[in-house]
Amino acid sequence: MASPHPSSAQETILPGSTLGVLGGGQLGRMFAHAAQRMGYHVGVFCQESGGPASQAADWEVVAPWDDLDAVERFAKRVDCVTLESENIPLSVVQTALRFAPVRPGARALEISQHRIREKQTLQQAGIEVTPFHPVQKPEDMKVAAKLLGTPFILKTATMGYDGKGQRLIESIDDADTVLQAMGGDQWIAEKRIDLAAEVSVLVARNPSGETACYPTFLNTHRNHILDITQAPVPTIWNQAAGEAQELALKVVELLSLDGLLCVEFFIDSSGTVMVNELAPRPHNSGHLTINACLTSQFEQQVRAICNLPLGDTQLLQPAAMANLLGELWQSDQPPAWNRCLESSACWLHLYGKEKAIAGRKMGHLTAMASDAQQAADLVVAMRERLVAK
Ligand code: ADP
Ligand code: MG
Repeated sequence: MASPHPSSAQETILPGSTLGVLGGGQLGRMFAHAAQRMGYHVGVFCQESGGPASQAADWEVVAPWDDLDAVERFAKRVDCVTLESENIPLSVVQTALRFAPVRPGARALEISQHRIREKQTLQQAGIEVTPFHPVQKPEDMKVAAKLLGTPFILKTATMGYDGKGQRLIESIDDADTVLQAMGGDQWIAEKRIDLAAEVSVLVARNPSGETACYPTFLNTHRNHILDITQAPVPTIWNQAAGEAQELALKVVELLSLDGLLCVEFFIDSSGTVMVNELAPRPHNSGHLTINACLTSQFEQQVRAICNLPLGDTQLLQPAAMANLLGELWQSDQPPAWNRCLESSACWLHLYGKEKAIAGRKMGHLTAMASDAQQAADLVVAMRERLVAK
């Protein structure tokens, strides 16, 4: 087993150094923008050439995850490695770690890429999570139904995102077939929460132990995919939002995570706040920080992994973000971008993806207004104008 990179945890990685991102999507792209603005060079390790992150980076290494020689070549060229997805094989992180610090590291990844491990770790630390039951064989589904009631939600233990790898289980009669159809060999059954709201908290921690928490975001999903984020949360959620921030800080300390962490929460109809899942990276709900906060989540990621002082997370003005998914491209025609910019308080972000596919995140809009609801109304109206006849 490789020994960890010898550099001391307190070392600061200064501008002029090279930062490496594992993953080639939009999170890597926006990270590259922030890092370069601060004078860093950026390299990307990705599976396909010329993707969103590569377009912004100084250079790319294109190879499959299991090409550990390519991972070694990549890590030797950078001063610090970070990631844009928790679904990166641990072997990649362990290989990279021989040549450069990897932030967040293997422990945070190991926990957040496995839904059962994630929930058990948090539960053991006394943090409330969605009630769950691990499923390894069809009989476990019976126990789950008894414990959680039906319908319940079944998720693959690994690799899910944007609602992929999830299914509502109404009856356990055909458990065998259902598990086969889901694929994988471990699943988690979760109580279906009667959601009053979903919120998320972004928190950063640097290797010196400094932490900084963003204001809590209120999230609305459509088809299990984030649709709208707004901040600050409506006043009825103030107390829950404060609880969520405390919990997020507790989680980042629990994992001793170096970098950025997003904690997704459910709030049920009785006001109970519970952790849904962890993402040890920038998060879609944090995209509004680019325009609306003093320090964007991507700059904060740079500061955190480089052990620089963390930036001020203050929200400058109430704001909302709307995702732009592939279905906005009708018969391959791009939306009328000029129309969403007719409001001077609306900003367009596109990720440079060539092919628009339904459900694929192609970009987002952010709007600011005098309150968060107005910002949400504005951002939705501007998104509608993109495709209005
Ligand atoms: P993903 O990794 O796809 O984001 P999540 O577990 O966050 O997976 O699920 C996506 C969305 O599906 C959630 O944000 C929520 O809207 C809904 N959902 C997931 N699990 C539950 C649950 N146990 N109860 C109610 N809604 C859920
Ligand atoms: Mg989620």
